[in-house]
Amino acid sequence: MPLFGPPNIPQLEAKRDSQGLIKALTYKDAAVRIAAAEALAPIKSPLAVEPLVALLKDRNPAVRRAAVGALAARGGGRVVEPLVAALEDSDPDVRAATATAVYRRLMTDPDQDARRATATALGRIRAVDAIEPLVKAIMDADESVRLAAIRALQAIGEVQAVVPLIIVLAHELVRQKAAGRSSLAVQRAASEALDALCDARSIGQLQTALTHDEADVREITVKRLARISTPEVADSLLAALNDRDSGIRRTAARGLAEIGWQPRPDETGARYWAALSEWRRCAECGPSAISLLVASFDNVDAIERTDILQALGQLAWEPDETNATAAHYWAFRGRWDRCIEIGRPAIGALDAVLRSNPRWRERLAAAGALTALNQPRSAPFTRIDLVRQAIEILDGDGDRTFKRMSLEMMLAEEHQYDPDAGERVEWCRCGYPASRVRSDALREPLTDLLGFEQSSTNATTYYCPSCDTRRTTVAT
Ligand SMILES: [Zn+2]
Repeated sequence: MPLFGPPNIPQLEAKRDSQGLIKALTYKDAAVRIAAAEALAPIKSPLAVEPLVALLKDRNPAVRRAAVGALAARGGGRVVEPLVAALEDSDPDVRAATATAVYRRLMTDPDQDARRATATALGRIRAVDAIEPLVKAIMDADESVRLAAIRALQAIGEVQAVVPLIIVLAHELVRQKAAGRSSLAVQRAASEALDALCDARSIGQLQTALTHDEADVREITVKRLARISTPEVADSLLAALNDRDSGIRRTAARGLAEIGWQPRPDETGARYWAALSEWRRCAECGPSAISLLVASFDNVDAIERTDILQALGQLAWEPDETNATAAHYWAFRGRWDRCIEIGRPAIGALDAVLRSNPRWRERLAAAGALTALNQPRSAPFTRIDLVRQAIEILDGDGDRTFKRMSLEMMLAEEHQYDPDAGERVEWCRCGYPASRVRSDALREPLTDLLGFEQSSTNATTYYCPSCDTRRTTVAT
């Protein structure tokens, strides 16, 4: 055995002699340097880091590759900077080996500090190839890693990051909504990155995001599209007018307004106005508005429902359907005959009129239609049969005197007042009976003949069913 022969790497390896192996890293023969680096990989001696880093500058590419392998095997924060720098090695094989080391090994290092440092370093050198691992890292369990990855993606500036960033932002917003807590820092960083990346170049990416399953993702996308503010985004925003989520349709319509898009009186115009809940203007776009109005009816509040029914009336809608929406429409138009034809599905619409229509004649008609459907209601009339008789007389032939006589006869027969005891009837301005005046001049409302409403203060207010005049309020 020669005294100054080459170091015996297998022997050093077998003895786990890291000092000997580190010394061998500087041996003149490249094959020895490679073997020493490879032997050091599983030993992971902290002392080996600096000599292995120095080997990344070796003039022999195979040696540099072995050093990359040994450093990658060790992992951890200390190897991040030298390995990321080696991504720009002059030799393609070294670069490939380093890419695997950095993207696969360091970006999934068990130490979050190493993952974070790697993401940050990749952003600094604007490593375009790093987008895929960085996109994975924006879902990292550790917040500081997520932040570093987002910032790196912003620094690299490639639009492929747009959709993943929108998804991250949406997830943070969902977390905030669901649990009331989210990472504000991640939200802010993702927003800032999107501010930087969302421009005309990213329209294609944003179009892809518009087809995402999650409504929150689509909502953010529509807002981002609107902010690009060039005519090219109009098509995407118009497509979003068909979104299944009404909030997104509204955001898209607002975005279209922001970029100066002008609706025409056609189907697209109808969709635009419907998205903004401008039902009258929707109807002005013609018959194609009908299906939109009908489809929106179930999802809006009472006030908007009235607007929709009005808009459908504007379009002279003649529904063939015999469903609840058609019944609401016919009730709105005062076509009680059509409501009765529809039958059971009309009961809800008729009840709504009976409960809350401000015109008592409509309430009376709805009560009559409900009776025709074998659905008599006790409120808001005590004796609907008497009310209907009285209205019939009032609306019938004959002069004022004749009608008063007929009404008095009917009321006496129905024991609503007693002329023989000196009582008389007092009349509403419209000619409908209002109160009974007793012989002692005390007035009592003819409650059986009036419509009534229970107030929240536990009082009952009576109304003239003919002209809606408030008659009197009685505490109960
Ligand atoms: Zn009246």
